[in-house]
Amino acid sequence: MRIARSIPQLRRAVEELRRDGSTVGFVPTMGCLHEGHASLMREAGRRTDRVVASVYVNPTQFLPGEDFAAYPRQLEADRGICARAGVDLLYTPTDSVMYPPGFSTRVEETVLSGPLCGTVRPGHFGGVATVVTKLLNQVRPDTAFFGQKDAQQALVIRRLVRDLDLPCEVRICPIVRDRDGLALSSRNRYLSPEERERALALSRALAEIERRFRAGEVSTSRLARAGRSVLAATAGVELQYLEFRDGETLAPVARVRGTTLVAVAAKVGTTRLIDNTVLDGRKGRVLSHL
Ligand code: AMP
Repeated sequence: MRIARSIPQLRRAVEELRRDGSTVGFVPTMGCLHEGHASLMREAGRRTDRVVASVYVNPTQFLPGEDFAAYPRQLEADRGICARAGVDLLYTPTDSVMYPPGFSTRVEETVLSGPLCGTVRPGHFGGVATVVTKLLNQVRPDTAFFGQKDAQQALVIRRLVRDLDLPCEVRICPIVRDRDGLALSSRNRYLSPEERERALALSRALAEIERRFRAGEVSTSRLARAGRSVLAATAGVELQYLEFRDGETLAPVARVRGTTLVAVAAKVGTTRLIDNTVLDGRKGRVLSHL
C-alpha cells in the first residue's frame, strides 16, 4: 500500500494506478478506523479495480466546543486496517495541504443540509461539503463510497456531486453494527461501559420502529411515539431528534409511503451519537441503505 501526503504525490500515485486503464474507488474517512470503514473499502475493492482511502480530521466540520481536539487519531493502526481491507493508496493530507494560507472558499448545499444534524450542528455540512469537494477533485475517483451511518451526509454529498457536475458516482453502503446492535463509530470509544449500555437505546428504538412498521403501522407519529418511549425508558439518554424524513428530499413525512429515513440523534453523557434505518413504504420492507 502506498502513502501520499501532498497533492502532487497523490496525483502521481493515482495516475500510476490508472495507467493500465483501472477504475478507481475512493473512501474518505477521518481515521480511527473500524469495521464500518473497512466494509466501505472492501466494497470499493469489489466495485472498482483500485482503492484509494483518505484519513483527514477536517477542522471545518467541527463547531466551536465540539470534539475536534479530542477526536481520536491513530494513523499507525489505520494504515494496517487499510492495508488489510485492500486499499492500494492511502492519502493523509495535512491541514496546510487542505487549507493553505489565504483559503477563502466554502461549498454549501442549501436544502438537505438544513434539518436533522443541520439544526443541531449549524455549519457542519458546509465543512463536510467543502472538504469532500476538495478530496473528490484531488483524487478524481470513478466512484466514492459513503456509509449509511451518516445518511444525511451521504445525501448532501450525492446532491453536491450532481449539482456541481462532479464526474463521480456516489455509492451508499449499509451500517455495520456491533453484535449487540450499536452502530460502529469512532466516537464509541468516548463511552464508558455504562454509557455504552445506555447507547443501545438508539438501535433498540429503531428496531422497535422497524418491528411495528413490519406489522403494518405507517403513521410516523405513532411510530415515533413507540421509538421515543424506548429511548425514554433508558436514563441518561438525552434525545436530540427522532424524525421521519423522505429518503431523497429529507422533507418530513406523516405516513411511510415511499423510501423513508428514520434518523435519531442523542447524547449519552458528553458523547453525541447518531443512528438510522430506512423504511420502504411501497413494499413494507426495511432497507439496508438509501
Ligand atoms: P468518518 O471517519 O466517521 O468520517 O466516516 C467515514 C465514512 O465511514 C463515512 O462515509 C461514514 O458514513 C462511514 N461509516 C462510519 N461508521 C460506519 C458504520 N458503522 N457502518 C458503515 N459505514 C460507516
